[in-house]
Amino acid sequence: DKITDKLAALPDDATFFSLEFFPPKTSEGFANLQARLERMSRALRPFFVNVTWGAGGSTAAKSLELAELCQRQLNLTTCLHLTCTNMNKSLIDQALSKAKAIGIRNILALRGDPPRNEEYFDKAELEAREGDEEFTWAVDLVRYIRREYGDYFCVGVAAYPEGHSDQSHPEVQDPKFDLPYLIEKTKAGADFLMTQLFYDVNAYEAFVDMLRSDPSGVFKSIPIIPGLMPVQSYQILRRTTKLSHAKLPPEILEKLDVVKGDDEAVKSVGVDILSEIVERLKGRKHLGPQGFHFYTLNLEKMVAHIIERCHLIRDIGAKEEEDAIDVSQEITL
Ligand code: FAD
Repeated sequence: DKITDKLAALPDDATFFSLEFFPPKTSEGFANLQARLERMSRALRPFFVNVTWGAGGSTAAKSLELAELCQRQLNLTTCLHLTCTNMNKSLIDQALSKAKAIGIRNILALRGDPPRNEEYFDKAELEAREGDEEFTWAVDLVRYIRREYGDYFCVGVAAYPEGHSDQSHPEVQDPKFDLPYLIEKTKAGADFLMTQLFYDVNAYEAFVDMLRSDPSGVFKSIPIIPGLMPVQSYQILRRTTKLSHAKLPPEILEKLDVVKGDDEAVKSVGVDILSEIVERLKGRKHLGPQGFHFYTLNLEKMVAHIIERCHLIRDIGAKEEEDAIDVSQEITL
């Protein structure tokens, strides 16, 4: 199913959530994730799941395998991430045609990060390539998908509520700087926006308000899905927030600093923090169903706690409910 079609069928005051997974490297890891996905999909009933794509196509086969498992075997509405830069065009074509063949209707169209050995793109190199490379920015992929596949795919694009002020950084990331490009990407045919992770709800709200009131009108009613990452450990949190330029508001940092030596306490405080963020976002006035996207890092417990605590699990029929309760006992909360 297309995410947009599923959203159109929800009441305006509904909530929904998506779960993001990356393809494990080993077959053992894959088998473990399969078991976990089976449990999570039955107990938590995500509205859709996301499967990440390694920059440059490094995980192409594994991403498609995981997407097929989700879409076909587990019958989950699946959104396949696809990057376009530093990737052979034939790989993009193969990915899109395979996605279509396995029943996938949703693509998150991304530029992709620079390859690992180059820390950042070289600006001059990028500009030099712009003329002859078909895929430089995410917008090129959005346009390509629309040109080749029309409306077959529901297409999402990434959005960044926060930035950094590091002038020595070769790439500027700043909501105002990005805005014209986000407008262009959306106009090219994006159906929804999914955001980078954040913990600063004020920054997210200011970002959404900026988009909604933009005179171009392109963001007036487009679904904007906030990206949230449960706290798995103090170290992971510090690392991921640094990499993504997400601010940790002092009140959140203070709560975590008190318990940072105690892994279990960090997780438990993390569940409190994320639950508060979800509740705050739920309290906003919305245009339609309010979604939440969870970066799971392939882990289940923290996200299950948050989803349960915030009552994000969809209501279903009584029989299905019984099965789901059975399975939720398996996720030892
Ligand atoms: P773009 O929209 O192309 O923007 C990149 C930057 O370039 C922005 O700063 C923008 O302002 C600027 N820009 C855009 N167009 C122009 C232009 N014409 N001239 C000058 N500047 C321009 N990465 C992966 O490798 N795999 C994944 O699965 C993955 N999933 C993600 C999921 C989400 C929800 C998010 C938020 C990010 C994800 N990423 C993933 C990371 C993403 O690939 C990187 O952040 C990447 O650096 C930017 O991708 P983009 O699609 O936002 O690029």
